[in-house]
Amino acid sequence: MILLDGKLIAQNIKEELKNEISKLSKKPKLSVILVGEDPASQVYVGHKEKACAQVGMDSEVIRLSANISQSELENEIHRLNQDSDTHAILLQLPLPGSLDSFSAIAKISPEKDSDCLTPYNQGLLALGRPLVKPCTPAGVIEMLKANDIAIAGKEAVVIGRSNIVGKPMAQLLLNENATVTICHSKTVDLKEHCMRADIVVAAAGIPQLVDSSYIKEGASIIDVGIHRKEGKLIGDVNPLGMNEKAFALSPVPGGVGPMTIAGFLKNTLLLFEAQQEN
Ligand code: ADP
Repeated sequence: MILLDGKLIAQNIKEELKNEISKLSKKPKLSVILVGEDPASQVYVGHKEKACAQVGMDSEVIRLSANISQSELENEIHRLNQDSDTHAILLQLPLPGSLDSFSAIAKISPEKDSDCLTPYNQGLLALGRPLVKPCTPAGVIEMLKANDIAIAGKEAVVIGRSNIVGKPMAQLLLNENATVTICHSKTVDLKEHCMRADIVVAAAGIPQLVDSSYIKEGASIIDVGIHRKEGKLIGDVNPLGMNEKAFALSPVPGGVGPMTIAGFLKNTLLLFEAQQEN
């Protein structure tokens, strides 16, 4: 079985981005809005700042109190939309308290939407004409391609239908000409669907939901889940017995995670370049 080394692929993408950015006269800048003090969100924001620095992009974190009102938050987004020094805006989710993330995301200018979260950019994606691609699903496709795993004509099963992962994942696989099945919490026989699949993308947020009995011989398995258990990171896939059965598996950690960050950096540069043309 091949272990899909996301860390290595992401490293190569970052090198390419660094090289491209070094040739620019002006640096792309990301502005992150972090509301409240959720520890996991602080860690994720830290990773993104570090990744920006690694490739030579500027970043700024705007920290807002958890008590902020919806209109104060949206005014801040509006300010960044207008700010010509900010090329990409990232609203760290989840938002605390009663803040409405759907409404806030919809206020981000699609030209600065490096996570492909706005309704406009999700609409372009659904039409098969994405401006930017959602970072995690795009990372999954890159990972498959980097390992010459065919997608066209293959049976792909996506487990999960979230707006961030499952749904856009299915769109991208469809754009690559896979035959796509989306499974979710109301799916009657998840195992039966998985057993038909050439490609399984597990993004249900349930630790080790998928085990080797779900897998067709020679299938490729992408694990999008990340959970902490007894100090160790585990995914939505139980790797036990996969070695003998699967053709490829993405590990947790070191699989999809680094690819997501690479995808996000790619989007930021792409948006920056599009803004320079205007
Ligand atoms: P993520 O952001 O990783 O996609 P979410 O928690 O937002 O995670 O979404 C979880 C998704 O997983 C939901 O779409 C849900 O329907 C799906 N899901 C939850 N449990 C199961 C299950 N037992 N089988 C298949 N899908 C599931």
